[in-house]
Amino acid sequence: MYWDEREETVEQARLQETQMEGLRETLRRAQGSSYYRDLFKDRRLQIDDIRKLADIEMLPLTTKDDLREHWPWGFVAVAREELIRMHSSSGTTGRATVIFHTANDIKAWTHLVARSMYMTGMRRGDVFQNMMTYGLFTGGLGFHYGAEEIGALVIPAGAGNSKRQIQLICDFGTTFIHIIPSYALYLSTVFDEMHVDPRKDTKLKAAFIGAEPHSEKMRRTIEDLYGFKAYNSYGLSEMNGPGVAFECPCQNGLHIWEDQFLVEIIDPLTGKPLADGQEGELVMTTLKREGMPLIRYRTKDLTRIIPGPCDCGRTHRRIERIKGRTDDMMIIKGVNIFPIQIEKRLMEIPGVGTNFLVLLDREGYDDYMNVQVEVKREFFTGDLKQLEKLRRRIVEELKSDILITPRVDLVAPDSLPKTEGKAVRVIDNRKD
Ligand SMILES: [Zn+2]
Repeated sequence: MYWDEREETVEQARLQETQMEGLRETLRRAQGSSYYRDLFKDRRLQIDDIRKLADIEMLPLTTKDDLREHWPWGFVAVAREELIRMHSSSGTTGRATVIFHTANDIKAWTHLVARSMYMTGMRRGDVFQNMMTYGLFTGGLGFHYGAEEIGALVIPAGAGNSKRQIQLICDFGTTFIHIIPSYALYLSTVFDEMHVDPRKDTKLKAAFIGAEPHSEKMRRTIEDLYGFKAYNSYGLSEMNGPGVAFECPCQNGLHIWEDQFLVEIIDPLTGKPLADGQEGELVMTTLKREGMPLIRYRTKDLTRIIPGPCDCGRTHRRIERIKGRTDDMMIIKGVNIFPIQIEKRLMEIPGVGTNFLVLLDREGYDDYMNVQVEVKREFFTGDLKQLEKLRRRIVEELKSDILITPRVDLVAPDSLPKTEGKAVRVIDNRKD
């Protein structure tokens, strides 16, 4: 059973008792790692000082840099032969971090992914096509094992090779797919080229979209193109990978599995905890992990806890879709801007295609932002000059949101570089 009512609708008070037990166990287990053992000794911290969940604020935050500095074994809390799997972060910035799992860790992770997918309606007999990169990246194997546990037939397609993806969907009656949102938009153009209508000619029921921040508008666009539901999935390798938080059928925030993770939102600048509803950086503590327990890990992802219960009845609190990473934040003329703000605005303007690129440059002491925007194929006459009105509208709309005036260039449909992994949205050419 993957809909475990007792676990998923447990009262918050009871859930917090479970969390306290898990936290105590994590603090005890963490002493098995050289990093936390030394840290507790240096700071003269005693496990017994942590008596209630709020006491966690007494413990220092763990950062990705800490993981890198103590690479690869410094955080491992068990004997080497207890470890059965390693994964690593995608390493988009600097050296990748490595996470090790015991057999129980893999089992618990698999269960979380199965629980998440079951929540959206996946059942035994479904056909699940995983279009994520297999290997060190967790989006491949993480989803794979979760779907197998439910009893779905898994097609481990991996990333890329769009025509083959579509062929597999058609030949084997794929019902669920796991796909990066920007790739889902691109793949729909390949469906067009192959004269296959995903709405009519396939058995697709739903998609899991994750791995890159995306707007609600982008989700709705994907749902319209394919005629299915697209559920937002959130995870990071440091917290296993996928299955950390997932949307339920209400599609209003992602339930974050609080029986496995202790969740905090902090002010990214001061490190101070924020109340439910306030936006800040997500910080997480593993509650059951054996191989590599992490305490107060800074995810660098920006979100907020959505206050109040969910209509589905689950009591695990919800986080809002990820707004961006603290790393992605661009600072231009003193204004903080996230790529997703630009995406959100662009997708609301008729005539704008699915791809864009932000270039940041510096002239003298002045920073400026240049946004290259693909024109939608139906609007493209071959002459971009005729679209001056559209270009001006984009400048105005972006300006009203991000508060600085960007330079905007329209470009031909499909002319910006395509990626089969996470889309590259920003190129920063500014030299310090
Ligand atoms: Zn719900």
